[in-house]
Amino acid sequence: MRLGLAENPERPSSLLMENTFIPQLLDGTECGEYLALDLGGTNFRVLYVVLKDGKFVEENVDYFEVPRELRLGPGEDLFDFLAQCLSEFVQKRKLCGRNFKLGFTFSFPMTQKSLDVGILVSWTKSFNCSGVVGQDAVSMLNKAIHKRDNLNIDVNAILNDTTGTLVMGSYLDHRCALGIIMGTGSNGAYIEKVERIEKWLGKHPEKEMLVDIEWGAFGDNGVLDFIRTQWDNAVDEQSLLVHSYTFEKYYGGKYMGDLFREVLLTLAKEGCLGKGGVGKLATHGSITTTTVSTIEKESMEGEQATARKALEEAELEWEEEDLEVLKYVAGLVSYRGALLVSLLVGVLLQRMERPHCTVAIDGSLYRHHPRIRPLMEHLIAKFAPGHPFDLRQAHDGSGKGAALVAAIADRLHKNGATTTTTTTTTTTND
Ligand code: ADP
Ligand code: MG
Repeated sequence: MRLGLAENPERPSSLLMENTFIPQLLDGTECGEYLALDLGGTNFRVLYVVLKDGKFVEENVDYFEVPRELRLGPGEDLFDFLAQCLSEFVQKRKLCGRNFKLGFTFSFPMTQKSLDVGILVSWTKSFNCSGVVGQDAVSMLNKAIHKRDNLNIDVNAILNDTTGTLVMGSYLDHRCALGIIMGTGSNGAYIEKVERIEKWLGKHPEKEMLVDIEWGAFGDNGVLDFIRTQWDNAVDEQSLLVHSYTFEKYYGGKYMGDLFREVLLTLAKEGCLGKGGVGKLATHGSITTTTVSTIEKESMEGEQATARKALEEAELEWEEEDLEVLKYVAGLVSYRGALLVSLLVGVLLQRMERPHCTVAIDGSLYRHHPRIRPLMEHLIAKFAPGHPFDLRQAHDGSGKGAALVAAIADRLHKNGATTTTTTTTTTTND
């Protein structure tokens, strides 16, 4: 089996397959207080948790908005802002001066050199701060924290939301070995046997390692062009980072609404939708993924208010039978998304060969879309027969997962395990 590696050697794999340097999940002995930061999702969050015997006994979270000028300004200002939010958070809870280990969810493409070194590869989403690409986000955060007298915090782990979801999933069910994000974008992380990791540099006592697949970029080398449609091209052309994040753009929450709209636009142009004209269907962003999922939900319930509203808002001249067209197209784009994710899950279940695997999933697309889950259950069972699995929603894996990783890192450190010296590239090849 080849996991995402191009057959053509001139087209290298588009999967980064990053090492997370997390060799173990919770073992149930984790105790203590931990902090976590979660940057890169819709909100920026600070969390405080208390763990007793590997279980949450207290959880606290504050949400902050990162102003636009900080998202696009100098990196140092952004990290100073993160430290300022931490400072407000500890002050509010009278935790000033106490020593904490902190897990940092930084959901951007990065290359990890160790559990607490993450080099930013590129900014994505709405962030584009100068002076951070190629730098270690942990050192930048630590530097900003150390400027503040009331903070006595060490960042001991950096991870992304997908890894956090896998770890949170393992908290909910110890059989979890795969974490998935289906929100704005999409990605997966799984547990790989170290012996199967090509280019594993240096010795390592661990048998397994969490690997961040970065599957959002699957297909960037062209291996998925055979399923690419004219509507995918249109969505890609209107996106921020054109010709990248191929897989994610096929179904991610940021794109599914536009994909749906582009198909409707073609149908309207070809006279298969409405009574002539395209109305506002050519306007990028005018139909959201939430609309697609609501049309799906209402279809299941025999309702069609949202499809009706979508046609009205598109300012089309339409008739009753056009509602069926919208429902059909919403079903198609949703089905394709579920199919693509399920294919990857099926391959991973076969690869991991576990007696049972719980798949932890976080993200609003999965949480709210009424058909994604049942479709995935059906399709994964078809693609990986004989590999029992459960899909489990791991809400807030990116936040709580980071606190759990901080606790795991703390335990590993106390037990003398090395999480900082081995350098690896985790390309898998069988
Ligand atoms: P993030 O990925 O930023 O952490 P979320 O997991 O909340 O945040 O995902 C946000 C994405 O989920 C948005 O792109 C949005 O289109 C999509 N989304 C939000 N609500 C719904 C919904 N009801 N149905 C389907 N998709 C939704
Ligand atoms: Mg998220």
